[in-house]
Amino acid sequence: MSPRTAAAIAREVASGRVSAEEVLQEHLARLRAWEPKLGAYLRVLEPQARARARAVDAKRGRGEALGRLAGVPVAVKDNILVRGLETTAGSRVLQGHAAAYDATAVRRLLDADAVLVGQTNMDEFAMGSSTENSAFQVTRNPWDADRVPGGSSGGSAAAVAAGLCALALGSDTGGSIRQPASFCGVVGLKPTYGRVSRHGLIAFASSLDQIGPLAGCVEDAALALAVIAGPDPKDSTCATMPVPDYLQSLGAGVKGLRVGLPKEYFAPGLDPEVETAVRAAVAVLGGLGAEVREVSMPHTRYAVSSYYILAPAEASSNLARFDGVRYGRRSPRARTLEELYELSRAEGFGPEVKRRIMLGTYALSAGYFDAYYGKAQRVRTLIKTDFSAAFQQVDVIAAPVAPTPAFRLGEKTADPVAMYLGDALTIPSSMAGNASLALPCGRTKAGLPIGLQLIADSFCEETLLRAAAAYERAAPWPGLPESAHA
Ligand code: GLN
Repeated sequence: MSPRTAAAIAREVASGRVSAEEVLQEHLARLRAWEPKLGAYLRVLEPQARARARAVDAKRGRGEALGRLAGVPVAVKDNILVRGLETTAGSRVLQGHAAAYDATAVRRLLDADAVLVGQTNMDEFAMGSSTENSAFQVTRNPWDADRVPGGSSGGSAAAVAAGLCALALGSDTGGSIRQPASFCGVVGLKPTYGRVSRHGLIAFASSLDQIGPLAGCVEDAALALAVIAGPDPKDSTCATMPVPDYLQSLGAGVKGLRVGLPKEYFAPGLDPEVETAVRAAVAVLGGLGAEVREVSMPHTRYAVSSYYILAPAEASSNLARFDGVRYGRRSPRARTLEELYELSRAEGFGPEVKRRIMLGTYALSAGYFDAYYGKAQRVRTLIKTDFSAAFQQVDVIAAPVAPTPAFRLGEKTADPVAMYLGDALTIPSSMAGNASLALPCGRTKAGLPIGLQLIADSFCEETLLRAAAAYERAAPWPGLPESAHA
């Protein structure tokens, strides 16, 4: 069998020990066995992937140097554009829409000789925490098919967890990489706002959206970040700072690293099994020489309510472009321009997206702007201040990713507020725009993965990855048992 981690695949394909075609073959075999149950992919690109794998092998055959992801099977969340392919963001409004260009992150994966296997399911326009808001299909958790994979990057997380690709891209606006990573037992990294270009990411809330990797181990997340990060003239919000070598410092350990436990993240409502696993993981870091101390982030409790004003407000403005005129769904029933707008949007958007547009439009409307949007912006500043104060005292913050492990399909669909409250522990870092990562740190008695969240100051991904790698070496995560695939 060929290796499973992206880093090992790339090494072995580059050295010729295994071919990109063989690696792809194994992933496709698992995909055939497993995907009908899981529903992780909206589109599997089998012929294109085969052609691509052969091209990578041919490149090696000609003696040309191969890229850092040589022959690595990757998947891309369906809100990240792939030129010439249908890209829908999980929405009917974009059904049949072919992307006109590659997102920069996709371009960089392909330039590094990765093999694109498919595009993954997601909550419509990335709005959701369970992937149940996809207009097209349900995705199931590979550890328990009655449970959600998390969301909104649920397809990417499930695909990586089940070995249907070695690496995937997701997007994170309020937790959409970290929470599904924790529900599916994989590593998910939300880079600092501005670290990875968002050119070609279908916008949800532009002051929060980030692209990042989901991976089977910390080294793979570091490798993926190294490939996709860095300045991009096509995205003016992308930082111009040079990209450090994330792989080099992975082995440096955590001796003397100051780790903060924010007491507000361990509040009532946190599942006791999650709390026990996270505290045990932090104790492992302590045992490796980290200095653990408690910190306080008093504005944490306001994060959900202010996010659910700001994100819908930005979404209502971003989604105004789907009006049936230039691209996307155009209602065949419309007779006037007014009807064209109304019917195309009414038919094209699902209930959660409509709910967000209404919330956001209300929050931005004359007379309410200061009371809602203005106030939420001020709360966002307070949340950022909490982080700045904490990072005076510690290098990394450790916390749970989500208050519970993966919940059951349908458990929260009737109660949007319950769904929103599940984001309480990932939203603050999104609001602050800093870097955070989820990695598996144990399982519940019922066998469900539990995630540890590590948060570092902006552009300190190196510290984050180094701490995560140290933990992973001390407490290796076995991943899904092979037998689960049968
Ligand atoms: N669950 C959050 C929401 O529904 C975050 C989604 C995301 O990060 N894209 O908005």
